[in-house]
Amino acid sequence: MFQSAIHRFSQNMKCENCSGDYLANCANCHECFEATECQDCKFCDSNKSSKDAYDVLGHGQRAELILETVATGIGQMIAFCVLSADLNNVFYSISCHSCSNLFGCAGLRKKQYCIFNKQYSKEEYEQLVPQMIEHMRQSHEWGEFFNPKTSHFGYNETLAIEYFPLAREEALKDGFNWSDYLAPKPQVEQMIPASKLPETIAEVPDRILDWAIECEVTSKPFRIVKQELDFYRKMNISLPRRHPDQRHHDRLVWRNPRKLWVRKCDKCGVEIKTTYGLDRQEKIFCEECYQKAIF
Ligand SMILES: [Zn+2]
Repeated sequence: MFQSAIHRFSQNMKCENCSGDYLANCANCHECFEATECQDCKFCDSNKSSKDAYDVLGHGQRAELILETVATGIGQMIAFCVLSADLNNVFYSISCHSCSNLFGCAGLRKKQYCIFNKQYSKEEYEQLVPQMIEHMRQSHEWGEFFNPKTSHFGYNETLAIEYFPLAREEALKDGFNWSDYLAPKPQVEQMIPASKLPETIAEVPDRILDWAIECEVTSKPFRIVKQELDFYRKMNISLPRRHPDQRHHDRLVWRNPRKLWVRKCDKCGVEIKTTYGLDRQEKIFCEECYQKAIF
């Protein structure tokens, strides 16, 4: 049924001149995903009410002129910042709030004219920052987000791998870290393969709480907690056979990738930008054809 049904080329709602998916009430936003009430944006993801934003991931609320930020919003002229809000004229800073005129700072509150967390006068700041920018220009660092080498996490431990999968060697070649950490095996009475689990929840003994289950796909062990077991019993749902990470992965597979392909409407042949790849078998209709066919 899913294959033969008509699919709208995007899930955008009330948008004008936009490309991307899951956009609502946006105008002039391109290559954006899951954004609402945004205007004049490009390459943004999961942000709300941003204006003039580029390469923004998360938050972005009530922010204007914002570039290459993660989970940062409120304010204006913010670039290369992470986990920050209520800023004005702030560059390369992490976890700073209610601040203005910062460069390379971390964890500041209600500060202004600081470089590397050190307080300067307005005049000193305005003299030093252009010098630093010039230096960074020469070393080709200016205008780029923090070097991935400075990340505390491996590429495979971050959301990046879900949207842009890379193998270990590829990630290392591109300058990312990689984590080889393996979670220790749980100290349990017994480890049972998922295939040995009872079919119904009614047959599951309380002792399951002392055991670990081996995922049917990855063999990674996982445990069941009491609240979870109570919930399964209440809802009459059998125990999961897959590790939580695998279940997360399974859900992601149902979503289209955050990537746009140019293809033709399967009804009228007009060109559309859609997250349905060229090899997808579903019938993909442009907005007009979809509306005509459905309503
Ligand atoms: Zn069409």
